[in-house]
Amino acid sequence: MKSGNGNGNGKPRTRIVIVGGVAGGASAATRARRVDANAQITLIERGPAVSFANCGLPYHIGGEIADRDDLLVTTPKLFRERFGIDVRTDTEAVSIHREAKSVTLRLADGSEEHLEYDRLILATGAEPVVPPFVRRRYRNVASLWSLTDMDRIIDTLSDRDDAKAVVIGGGFVGLEVAEQLIRRGVTCTLVERNAQVLRTLDPEMAIEIAHELRNQGVDLRLGESVTGLTADGTDDDLVTGVQLGEETLATDLVVLAIGVRPRIELARDAGLEIGESGGVRVDPWMRTSDASIFAVGDCVEYEHAVLGKATCVPLAGPANRAGRVAGAVAAGAEVRPMTPVYGTNVVRVFAKTAASTGLHETRCRAEGIACRSVFIQASGHASYFPGAQPMLLKLVYTPSGKVLGAQGVGGAGVDKRIDVIATAIHFGGTVDDLAGLDLAYAPPYGSAKDPVHMAAFVACNDLESHPRIVPPDLDLDGFQVVDVRTAKETERLPLEDAIHVPIDELSQRLGSLDPERPTVTVCHTGKRGHIAACQLKSAGFRHVRNLTGGMLVRSRIADVTNREPDDQTPSRT
Ligand code: FAD
Repeated sequence: MKSGNGNGNGKPRTRIVIVGGVAGGASAATRARRVDANAQITLIERGPAVSFANCGLPYHIGGEIADRDDLLVTTPKLFRERFGIDVRTDTEAVSIHREAKSVTLRLADGSEEHLEYDRLILATGAEPVVPPFVRRRYRNVASLWSLTDMDRIIDTLSDRDDAKAVVIGGGFVGLEVAEQLIRRGVTCTLVERNAQVLRTLDPEMAIEIAHELRNQGVDLRLGESVTGLTADGTDDDLVTGVQLGEETLATDLVVLAIGVRPRIELARDAGLEIGESGGVRVDPWMRTSDASIFAVGDCVEYEHAVLGKATCVPLAGPANRAGRVAGAVAAGAEVRPMTPVYGTNVVRVFAKTAASTGLHETRCRAEGIACRSVFIQASGHASYFPGAQPMLLKLVYTPSGKVLGAQGVGGAGVDKRIDVIATAIHFGGTVDDLAGLDLAYAPPYGSAKDPVHMAAFVACNDLESHPRIVPPDLDLDGFQVVDVRTAKETERLPLEDAIHVPIDELSQRLGSLDPERPTVTVCHTGKRGHIAACQLKSAGFRHVRNLTGGMLVRSRIADVTNREPDDQTPSRT
């Protein structure tokens, strides 16, 4: 492709400079090229590679992605040859001169160079937070945010059959790393300061992931904080212990995964507006407060559709979509604006999947957003078809039925349900809309009444008082509690002060219950409780409610020792 300054028609070529060459930057660059075949596009990346698969990094540590080269999705050579994009790796943009419309670059040899632009796109991403107890660089303490970080982690572990590692932080990246360390045969402790892992979930949902981690051999320390790192005195650059108060965990490797913050120094120093959540402020076309400068990806704040305000969402999907918008606009196209985000996310933790979209109940309460929520347990596909795995879905909605968010934890099929609900949220859908969705069905894939439908049916019943549900952690004091589980179930998970009437005996034993007392029906998941509540209502009971999620969720809530407020930003940590 052309590399001169004109396009052959005497018209100057638009100079587009992009800083940051991975998710958002690479998307912006290739989109700009598709819009303007003549633009002079330069991609600046301070690391050694562009467009690498940072989301795949954990899986090479465990060997699930065996070949490191598979992480190099696109090479500088391909950018040059196919797209005519000039890629400058090992080159850092150190300052922006808005008046002169130029960027100062620092090259690998320390020399500086100025590059002029007509349009500048910042895609500088986020940087991992380093906790205060890491006072200097150690050879075996690493975050996982780049290929170099990954190589360092692998080097630290190589030639050791009995390695021990401590992962600090129970967000997405911490969990993925723990999974892959166990796969590699490393003894792994995961320390999370909060009482739960994955703060994108409500605590009673996250608890299943905690169980899975423990079942798979991770020594999970919830509600504990790292207070320091120790070295044994023989090598000051090597950490040998992680302190948790009085206790010291011996270790060969420490992985820091406590969160990320937007990398905004370039933008801030250039005087661009920074939003309240800490990301660069942009308009829906990804323009910053300077119309010639765009910003995309983890360094910006996006409009959160459900929250109704701007927030940082460090995820690959929004970064790629925003890059596409900015690339097109910078190259002169008129395109639709960036769509708002909902923080839709998914993570695999051994045999379980956890996913969520929109807001969870904890966040709604913290933001003062009125919400109701229901739980259902269902199978990923028809329960009679081999291989069906259970999932727990939680649907959160406004008192008028608008869907605010959903969370799913369980086996295969969780991702699909969350994506369906995310789509409904995108279109401003209600629980009625979800209940009416025409979804694909065959036994190996789903159920004629899909888990999404089931959750929506329960929410519709609630809103139509057919009958209403009550939350699983309701204080049952003062209610007539009718427990319709089998004797075996009640023995396994007792519910004190409940009247035990197995569902199939209910119609015969109605006379033993008081129709005037406020009544709550309870079963294991909420399904039989609903049938019982309908039966009681038809029999003239005046105030009947069903405990959503049943004893399954109630017992989990009892297990959660400490509910903490959440900032809910789905940081991939
Ligand atoms: P990045 O992709 O991080 O790219 C920013 C680039 O800018 C970096 O390469 C950096 O070196 C460069 N840069 C910064 N400053 C300068 C400068 N001054 N000069 C030159 N270059 C500069 N998200 C998901 O949605 N799903 C996942 O499964 C997932 N898994 C992840 C797993 C890991 C281990 C990691 C690290 C991230 C994961 N993410 C995931 C998050 C996702 O990768 C990011 O949200 C996404 O890459 C953000 O894109 P970006 O372009 O904003 O930033």
